[in-house]
Amino acid sequence: MRTLRTIAEVRAALKGARRDGRSIGFVPTMGALHEGHLQLIREARQQHDEIVVSIFVNPTQFDDPGDLAAYPRVEASDAEAAAGAGADLLFAPSAAEMYPDGFASTVHVGGPTDVLEGASRPGHFDGVATVVCKLLNIVGPDIAYFGQKDAQQLAVVRRMVADLNLPVEIEAVPTVRDPDGLALSSRNARLAPADRQRALALSRALRAAECAVADGRVEAGDVLGAARAEFTAAGVEPDYVELVDPTTFASVPAVNGNALLAVAARVGDVRLIDNQPLTSTRSH
Ligand code: AMP
Repeated sequence: MRTLRTIAEVRAALKGARRDGRSIGFVPTMGALHEGHLQLIREARQQHDEIVVSIFVNPTQFDDPGDLAAYPRVEASDAEAAAGAGADLLFAPSAAEMYPDGFASTVHVGGPTDVLEGASRPGHFDGVATVVCKLLNIVGPDIAYFGQKDAQQLAVVRRMVADLNLPVEIEAVPTVRDPDGLALSSRNARLAPADRQRALALSRALRAAECAVADGRVEAGDVLGAARAEFTAAGVEPDYVELVDPTTFASVPAVNGNALLAVAARVGDVRLIDNQPLTSTRSH
């Protein structure tokens, strides 16, 4: 695996592959790679000839300077892990390479950005959409892989790709969890042991919601009540617990067909998010 720092190097490295009709799979990340990221890379590896992974802690998507400063940066071990999972090229640009002097453009996606993470983190999705748009234009993959873990980000990226006719397919990969249920996140390493335990409120809330739906209790009040009870039991105050449409992220009154339960909470110093797709065939 080669590590590349500049956009010109990436374009040059992939020119031959593109000319020869070799397919390109792309996994954008912010590094501190864990099993969740590696699952995306392995998924890409199974489907493509060339696998590109990017590591870029994108400053424009952080609304909290403390979170940006504390974000883990461990490129050497990341490079080893990415290569082990099947990456061929690692693109790890500097902020100056991505945002040179004079940079003045923003991709703003409407719709799913107005609520939940968009409301809690002003400017976050503009930063995400802009950097993902740039990375897709730099790499030019056939398929880009995103985690279901960041369901709203996935919806925003899908919206942008459709609206701007970007010639790429977006594939979602299911959330990878620790055995006790906690969704893997680069931020988990910052949880103190007691907070690591309290953080289980998020995944327990999702399981409780799933059980409610399985029992036929599909009204939003029932699903949200079951989920909120888990936060109360753990003594964690959620930022939000919402039942939404998985594409538009508009609130829905019941699980009728496909819905998504999305949760967020600050546990200790760390803000965590999680979500669960829910399905019911009962009509209401
Ligand atoms: P990040 O480095 O946090 O920006 O994440 C890079 C990609 O990995 C995003 O598409 C995330 O949704 C995905 N990802 C992060 N955590 C997980 C997880 N636990 N399971 C599956 N995908 C994940």
